[in-house]
Amino acid sequence: MQSKYHFYTIIMKKQKKFVLTDDQVPTQWYNIQADMPNKPLPILNPATREPLTVDEMSHIFARECCVQELDQEHRWIDIPQEVLEKYRFYRSTPLVRAYELEKALGTTAHIYFKNESTNPLGSHKINSALPQCYYCREEGTTNVTTETGAGQWGAALSYAAKIFGLDAAVFQVRISMSQKPYRSSIMRTFGAVVTGSPSMSTRAGKDILTVDPQHPGSLGTAISEAVELATQTPNCKYTLGSVLNHVSLHQTVIGLEAEKQMEMAGEYPDVVIGCFGGGSNFSGIAFPFMRHTFSGEHPNTRFIAAEPDSCPKLTRGVFHYDFGDEAGLTPLLPMFTLGHSFKPANIHAGGLRYHGAGTIVSQLLKDGYMTGVDIPQLESFEAGMLFARTEGIIPAPESCHAIAAAIREANDATAKGEERVILFNLSGHGLIDMTAYEQYINGDLQNYSLSSETIAANTHDLP
Ligand SMILES: *Cc1c(COP(=O)(O)O)cnc(C)c1O
Repeated sequence: MQSKYHFYTIIMKKQKKFVLTDDQVPTQWYNIQADMPNKPLPILNPATREPLTVDEMSHIFARECCVQELDQEHRWIDIPQEVLEKYRFYRSTPLVRAYELEKALGTTAHIYFKNESTNPLGSHKINSALPQCYYCREEGTTNVTTETGAGQWGAALSYAAKIFGLDAAVFQVRISMSQKPYRSSIMRTFGAVVTGSPSMSTRAGKDILTVDPQHPGSLGTAISEAVELATQTPNCKYTLGSVLNHVSLHQTVIGLEAEKQMEMAGEYPDVVIGCFGGGSNFSGIAFPFMRHTFSGEHPNTRFIAAEPDSCPKLTRGVFHYDFGDEAGLTPLLPMFTLGHSFKPANIHAGGLRYHGAGTIVSQLLKDGYMTGVDIPQLESFEAGMLFARTEGIIPAPESCHAIAAAIREANDATAKGEERVILFNLSGHGLIDMTAYEQYINGDLQNYSLSSETIAANTHDLP
């Protein structure tokens, strides 16, 4: 007969979900720039080609975000009290051991995921939407503009704008608007004005449509339009959902929580994985762990960014100064890029259809602290289906890329007989993306290969 104690240890071993109490939710963000051995190269003013200053940048963005953007000194940045209160509506988010997925794979690896899909907006984007809108309101701004791809950022921003009393105008990538119509309904429910991009309502949109009337839109076109509107509207600031340093900074709440939760689980990750659009959710899960790589405490942790093979800036892009948008209105960013005029294939992972990578992540990739992997669309959905059928959560098409990379790692560990500890970020749920799953199940989705000639053609005349 098994003792009561034995029963207890089995339960302990099988603990699936790790949650923090309200007072364990981090009160500071982690600024990785302070610890990076090589700092990212400066962002340049495209007119003068001189490093961009806070004053110049704050014509477009909330001033406090610009200060954070250029801060290479302070390791910890206080989360404003009001933002912290809003975080506590939905944080901490659970860290979950994926026992059922492990069983289905028959793997020797331990797979954990941080579930950022549990807030009502459905993705990690709310972590940065809240502080950005808070700072805008504090600085007296009344209107915000932004771009959105699949619509997760637009939804989060629309909600955050509403609760901080701001009016929001969102440009949504046209192809994503038709693939995911409910997301524009969500944004409009929160009171935002939503326009498909490219549109005829801005100079940038008109120019893009003149060259290509059938342009399906990209994050690059939508950014051009939103920036233009922000610069031409009084008391209006632009907000960005990814790529920039301050956005990655806000997302570090994910990894800081995960660090405490992994401790509760009694493990430390060998591999940390995030899907990759512009870098914000990857940075969020990875940077807090990476500080222990820099300090030498955990020198061998591997960090993997999973991007679509149809938009492979990390593995096949060039490291170069480039614009963040299609029309060339943004400052010049030193980054891995496929060229700002690159038109990504119409994959369903709308949030990953972006030509460039954030400057911090680009520097870390260059310095060998992380790697990129390319995931074909069909492999991503195959992974998402298995995850749904085992763990009961339908992942966002973007997040499916992280799951696919985690499965590759788990299978590799099994082949080598290793008890590898894998942590990935589940950046969002896919409940508004069921058209994509429907098409996958019906066999109507395809892979897109990208020739080296196409990449070369888009990157040969960078600024
Ligand atoms: C926006 C988004 C992404 C991609 O953006 P990153 O800034 O690279 O994180 C990934 N997953 C989801 C669910 C998203 O909404």
